[in-house]
Amino acid sequence: MAKRNLKLEKVKDIIPHWVKGRGGAFAKKFYAHWVLWHWADIVGEFNAKYAEPQGIRKDILHLYCGNATLRNELMMMQEQITQMVNNYAGQRMITGIVFGRRWEHPDTAEIDEIRIAHAAPEENWGRERRKVVLSAEEAEAAEQLGPAVQDQEIACKARQLYKKHLQMEKLREAKKWHPCTDCGTLCPPEKKWCPVCAMKRREQLLASIRQVLRDIPWARCKEVQEYVPLCTPKLLNEQRAIMVQQLASEVDVNDKTSIKAMNLVMLCRCLPPEHLTEEEIARTLYGLRFNLHRPKDYKAPKRYSVIPLGKKGKRQS
Ligand SMILES: [Zn+2]
Repeated sequence: MAKRNLKLEKVKDIIPHWVKGRGGAFAKKFYAHWVLWHWADIVGEFNAKYAEPQGIRKDILHLYCGNATLRNELMMMQEQITQMVNNYAGQRMITGIVFGRRWEHPDTAEIDEIRIAHAAPEENWGRERRKVVLSAEEAEAAEQLGPAVQDQEIACKARQLYKKHLQMEKLREAKKWHPCTDCGTLCPPEKKWCPVCAMKRREQLLASIRQVLRDIPWARCKEVQEYVPLCTPKLLNEQRAIMVQQLASEVDVNDKTSIKAMNLVMLCRCLPPEHLTEEEIARTLYGLRFNLHRPKDYKAPKRYSVIPLGKKGKRQS
């Protein structure tokens, strides 16, 4: 590919029409790759140097920053960075950023599950933002930033970014945004949490559902709700399916007696231990045979050699 200077061009001006022609999901994925490729153009060399993009998952941009102080400062400006990315992409690409460890393959191929639900273009507040006047106090606070930083250029960029951040905060307050219940980042009036905290809460919820299933593999939704009131049948089914896949990969295809195999059957079929019969075990494990761990030379047995002939669930007499 020929090298071009893309710095001054906006994505939406460059992306050929065929991208759009291939549908919203494709275009969004394409833009996501684009954003990661042009990271330094979007956030500037300074930020790009310290915050390495790892990928986009579920509309959240994952960044790695090895410096804790800078990480905190960048985190405070998450709304700003989110806005810059979305502006560059010309559409609502991400809902927030998180800092985490370096991905093993920090690669655009890691982008997955980009939903198109948010495809509506975000309001561009840039013009309004520039009109926001900072108070003397706020301007002073920005000037105090970065005296510990030796590099003057870096300190200056940090101050600029912080001023933009303060302007955005004022603009949001004017638009009735309110602090996120968990972290204080301003969120739209209709949202209780910022995207990052909402994601964290969801992950905690899912983890607590999995915890109940680890303790009571056969639990149905009502039982899980006793421990995790926010659990829904859909969430439970999803987590159960994930755990079945995980556990199955650890159970050998010839294993019909280990605790793991029993747990798998109880989990998969919502069967309490007192209802575990040899036939249920054989039937369930046969159903999962393609997910179970199989030795290299394994040949699948015929169905009738595992499960008695006859109607489903009924033993022939
Ligand atoms: Zn938050």
